Amino acid sequence: MTDVVATNQTIIVVGGGISGMTAALEATETGKQVILLEKRPYLGGRVSQLYKYFPKMCHPTCGQEINQRRIKMNQNLTVLTQAEVANISGNTGDYTVSVTLTPRYVNNHCTACGECAKAATTEFDDEFNYNMGKRKGVYLPNAMAFPQHYVIDQRLIGTAEADAAKAACKYGAIDLDQQVETLDLKAGAVIFATGWKPYDANKIQPYGYDRFANVITNVEFERLMDPHGPTGGKLLRPSDGKEAKNVAFIQCAGSRDKNHLAHCSRICCMASLKQTNYVQEKFGDDGKSTIYYIDMRAIDRFDDFYQKVQDNPNVSFIKSKVAKVEEDKASGNPVLHGVDTEGYKRYANQHDLVVLATGMEPSVDFKGFPVKIMVNDEGFIEQDDSNGGIFAAGVASDALDVNRAVQHATAAALRAVQVVNQVAGA
Ligand SMILES: Cc1cc2nc3c(=O)[nH]c(=O)nc-3n(C[C@H](O)[C@H](O)[C@H](O)COP(=O)(O)OP(=O)(O)OC[C@H]3O[C@@H](n4cnc5c(N)ncnc54)[C@H](O)[C@@H]3O)c2cc1C
Repeated sequence: MTDVVATNQTIIVVGGGISGMTAALEATETGKQVILLEKRPYLGGRVSQLYKYFPKMCHPTCGQEINQRRIKMNQNLTVLTQAEVANISGNTGDYTVSVTLTPRYVNNHCTACGECAKAATTEFDDEFNYNMGKRKGVYLPNAMAFPQHYVIDQRLIGTAEADAAKAACKYGAIDLDQQVETLDLKAGAVIFATGWKPYDANKIQPYGYDRFANVITNVEFERLMDPHGPTGGKLLRPSDGKEAKNVAFIQCAGSRDKNHLAHCSRICCMASLKQTNYVQEKFGDDGKSTIYYIDMRAIDRFDDFYQKVQDNPNVSFIKSKVAKVEEDKASGNPVLHGVDTEGYKRYANQHDLVVLATGMEPSVDFKGFPVKIMVNDEGFIEQDDSNGGIFAAGVASDALDVNRAVQHATAAALRAVQVVNQVAGA
């Protein structure tokens, strides 16, 4: 049984991405007891699935390592992974949060030696790589997973393979008898840092994501570049494994469009500009990128980044909303059709690979949200007095880059601290 002590002085943070980790750490470092709940088996959220992140262009480990160290050092912070909130009842300063814990089947004795995985053979789609590759049923979710503990896929339970994994473990770390648990935790305030999911590109019919192998999304492109990704970091297109040296980026794919996402995710222009760097990194002057855009949105210090990319002779910009994508059957090349609005010329341009710059939408469907809360038309959580002691942090509140998400999470932590302080003073 998981043993966690919680009172109305406790702050619960839901979602362990960069925003949730920040909110939890900032709150706990003021002396509060905090419980951080993450539904995946590891912390880090979607930032951990990026290859590099702007503006510094460093690997996600550079930001996450320090947070992981702070978490390990803090006695007042409890992290529960594979944890989801089923219900919240009560009022400001006095909530009861019902949490469902799904078993990992691996306990804290795990040293991540990997012997258990060697005993397993069955493979499943790899969620970490947006299902572009496979992983074993006994697996470490990603190289920098925190906690560094293996997971046994629920679908293996009851099989000889799970027994073989258990037998291979020298540390007694595998417990195949773990069961789903429900905990009722008290809390004075709750912060939702549940983040985002990529807009479903299958819904953007004219761009052929559902039909053409060489049309992928921006999040998938991040994984293609990563040495731990499905191609071992080689920029190969999915249809035939050919090097993708000539890449098109379609901006606002399903964004700023009332048929899809009405909002601008603010991040997609910067993400594509960053990704043109990736093409260059792989192929030098042989790597060509073309960005099809309505208008480029790179504000503040990101403008310098944009200027640099504009100065790169291997990157072209075409001001156009792409009308449709077709496929050249012989080559497998996607063909982009549209009108270049600077000069009003029609084009039918072939590329090796197309990357759809899809936007971010809230990860939680607010119809099934565990507590009544104000959301805006896009489903992001509003800051509203009627939410009482429930706050949002990071992209749960709006489409933000990491820098802004972290600032927002710090503000949310302070609001939550004020609530529990008021309860203590009452
Ligand atoms: C293609 C692309 C590239 C990007 N590149 C950059 C970049 O280079 N630089 C930059 O600054 N920003 C970049 N961003 C934006 C960046 O990814 C976000 O700012 C960041 O992920 C926000 O973190 P978050 O913690 O708010 O959300 P998330 O990263 O989504 O984390 C949310 C966490 O909450 C968990 N969760 C969700 N629901 C529940 C639930 N019900 N219960 C428990 N846990 C839950 C999730 O599993 C996840 O771990 C990029 C975005 C895209 C689309």
